[in-house]
Amino acid sequence: MNSGRTLLSIVSPMWNEEESADAFLQELTRQVDLLPDTDVEILIVNDGSADRTGEILDSWAQRRSDLTVLSLSRNFGHQAAITAGVFSATGDVVIVMDSDLQDPPELIPAMLEKWRSGADVVYAVRKERRGESAFKRGTASAYYRLLRWMSDTDIPADTGDFRLMSREVVEALRSMPERDRYMRGMVAWVGFTQEPLYFDRSERFAGTTKYSMKKMIKLGTAGILGFSDKPLYLAVASGFIVMGVAFLGLIWVLLSSIFGWGDLVRGWASIALIVMFFAAVQLIFLGVIGIYISHVFTETKQRPLFIIRNPRQ
Ligand code: UDP
Ligand code: MG
Repeated sequence: MNSGRTLLSIVSPMWNEEESADAFLQELTRQVDLLPDTDVEILIVNDGSADRTGEILDSWAQRRSDLTVLSLSRNFGHQAAITAGVFSATGDVVIVMDSDLQDPPELIPAMLEKWRSGADVVYAVRKERRGESAFKRGTASAYYRLLRWMSDTDIPADTGDFRLMSREVVEALRSMPERDRYMRGMVAWVGFTQEPLYFDRSERFAGTTKYSMKKMIKLGTAGILGFSDKPLYLAVASGFIVMGVAFLGLIWVLLSSIFGWGDLVRGWASIALIVMFFAAVQLIFLGVIGIYISHVFTETKQRPLFIIRNPRQ
């Protein structure tokens, strides 16, 4: 689309990746050096690594003028690291990828191709996930589906942060100042033309996952909290259901005392139904309060009201 050369920024976070850093950078640079009509800016975000990652990166930065290392002052986590990289990127197009070769650099040309033919976002969808435990695959798959059901934003399933974004999309992300950043949701939220690219996700090249259970739960919570207020409406809805059951119970008790059905223990029904009724009232109003809080939350996120897309040159 752009006349002349494209500036491609590659953003990749690393936290204690001494075992895979070299292999990743070799493969990445091999791929980007083959790209025609493209200048490249490689931004590696060192997310407070405590191992030799920093030294390895420094030696690469000395050898390649197109490789820059952003060193965070401590471990801020994957999402913050990606954000740091994307915000520093100057390219016409930015690709975010993990640095353990699970996001294969050989997909870069296909992503660029889709961008050139009109996509603003190209997100990589995992067809298969090799080398990951059944537990991780199961929970990830269930989570993505739950999130899709809960959220009004069309967040694609089985998609990590491996994606290409146009400059316009990056600027849109910059206009979202929220602190709890669930990037894959935010990119979906900004709109534009988003296209999937399917791939088989291979095993981590070396080392173990840097996503502890705690980090995964934090990320999952950020996704649901940032992109859904459905749980609050579920509270209100279940309150109404419980109230309905209490009313049906009331009718049954009245009828059975009028017509003498069964042998009811006196006093039981009134207590049970009163407890149910007030539980329902509380549930409904907790939901209502929650909905107000969610509106306050929406205001504090300060997302833009709308984003205008520029016509493509
Ligand atoms: N990562 C990071 N900071 C963290 C955790 C992970 O920068 O606190 C990086 C990590 O180096 C890798 C990417 O984020 O490049 C994804 O992490 P990982 O491969 O461990 O996650 P998984 O593929 O197991 O979900
Ligand atoms: Mg990985």
